[in-house]
Amino acid sequence: MIDTHCHLNDEQYTDIDEIVNNYLSVGVDKVVCASSSFSASVKAGELARKYPSVYYTIGVHPDEVEEFDINKLETLVKNASNKLTAIGEIGLDYFHNKENKAEQKQAFISQIELANKYKLPIVIHCREAYGDTLEILKQHPAKYGAVMHCYSGSLEFAREIISLGYKLSFTGNVTFKNAKNVKEVAQNIPDDSFFLETDSPYLAPEPHRGTRNEPKNVLDVAACVADLRGVSKQKLIELTDKNAIAFYKFK
Ligand SMILES: [Zn+2]
Repeated sequence: MIDTHCHLNDEQYTDIDEIVNNYLSVGVDKVVCASSSFSASVKAGELARKYPSVYYTIGVHPDEVEEFDINKLETLVKNASNKLTAIGEIGLDYFHNKENKAEQKQAFISQIELANKYKLPIVIHCREAYGDTLEILKQHPAKYGAVMHCYSGSLEFAREIISLGYKLSFTGNVTFKNAKNVKEVAQNIPDDSFFLETDSPYLAPEPHRGTRNEPKNVLDVAACVADLRGVSKQKLIELTDKNAIAFYKFK
């Protein structure tokens, strides 16, 4: 099983050897370490060099747009190992900041272009910015694929994203009792349109809610989505692994 989005590069993890052993011991054999800043991208690359099971992304999150520098980022991508699987997480966040929409959009578009140049898919962070995200994706398609990570939007928006050929991924938030919308999306989208993640150390799924999350808990996300779709956990994991491998093309 693959955790397609976690932040092993987060400073909350001071015990990475143990975290890695924890997920390997429950059958999670690959994780994608997602980056949200320049320094996190460097650290993700180091972790991918050290641990065979770790793949990674490079990117600047909309919350970190002040440090965005496309040349600096391109240098990192150019010198990356073949375990670099995507550009991300990138996108728009109007929940944390509505004052710098223009800068956020510019950084998002530049990073889509960077991904296209290096033939990589993108990982999208979108919070309270669905309309603008969709507009940018229509005008600047991600030619090698895109995933709306930690999906928490409507079923209608999910269908629009899927109609553009893009994917969704679900975190622990699908397991929360009050997450009616996300559950509805997870029940109603096509088999080939999604995969699973933890976004750890954040968003621990039930029954671990409120604790520091880690990649091994992706199995709880799988159990919940399997229930929602009325399939066995094993079948669901086979499906989402296949989708994740088609998207990230792990080398
Ligand atoms: Zn994340």
